[in-house]
Amino acid sequence: MAQVAVRDVSKAFGAVKVLHGVNVDIPDGAFVVLVGPSGCGKSTLLRMVAGLESITGGTISIGDRVVNHLPPARRDIAMVFQNYALYPHKTVAQNMAFALKLRKTDPAVITERVKKAAEILDLTPYLSRYPRQLSGGQRQRVAMGRAIVRDPQVFLFDEPLSNLDAKLRVQMRTEIKELHQRLKTTTIYVTHDQVEAMTMADRIVVMQAGRIEQIGAPLELFDRPANTFVAGFIGSPA
Ligand code: ADP
Ligand code: MG
Repeated sequence: MAQVAVRDVSKAFGAVKVLHGVNVDIPDGAFVVLVGPSGCGKSTLLRMVAGLESITGGTISIGDRVVNHLPPARRDIAMVFQNYALYPHKTVAQNMAFALKLRKTDPAVITERVKKAAEILDLTPYLSRYPRQLSGGQRQRVAMGRAIVRDPQVFLFDEPLSNLDAKLRVQMRTEIKELHQRLKTTTIYVTHDQVEAMTMADRIVVMQAGRIEQIGAPLELFDRPANTFVAGFIGSPA
């Protein structure tokens, strides 16, 4: 586990500025949700933490290391996306083991980690199945399993539930929170869904147009929104 610190971070794609000096602290072990309308810069910020996007200005640290110039593989993070492409010709166990194999992890360690992740995610009976033989929820759990086996310092989620139907989405919220309570891994979770943010976050970061409007606990934002944007966004029906 590690704390993540985002200091005065800006991002431009060519001449277009999409993040304007963003500051946010993600405490060690916290579950922090970045929320805001589509296009406000959530994914860009998350991808910068992951090392998938260069940093135009400012610094990002994970633990006590400034990671601005570290490649993704050296940041000790694991990311779960909305489009969790599983390898169709690999079994559940092979899907979960793949990233560790690439990193030349000891096979005995891989077996142990896959076994443990499967137990945590209720996937033990499905380890030798292929993705097409799984339900949507089970596939989503395999995607999380691929992240868990890496035993990272930080989990990054980018709208992981957007492709699921409403009922499953609500169920998976609970599962992801239970997972966090169990592993206590520092988590940054991106969504455009304010209900998801309110129900899952220890702390919410509300973004709009490349800026942070407010940071606070869910009830704090509800009781004392900093401005009309936050009040409208948090208070509007899902
Ligand atoms: P969100 O995840 O909040 O929906 P994004 O971070 O994906 O928003 O995008 C923020 C802004 O940056 C948007 O205006 C988007 O069009 C722009 N953007 C994102 N990626 C690129 C890119 N690779 N090239 C140019 N513009 C981009
Ligand atoms: Mg996005």
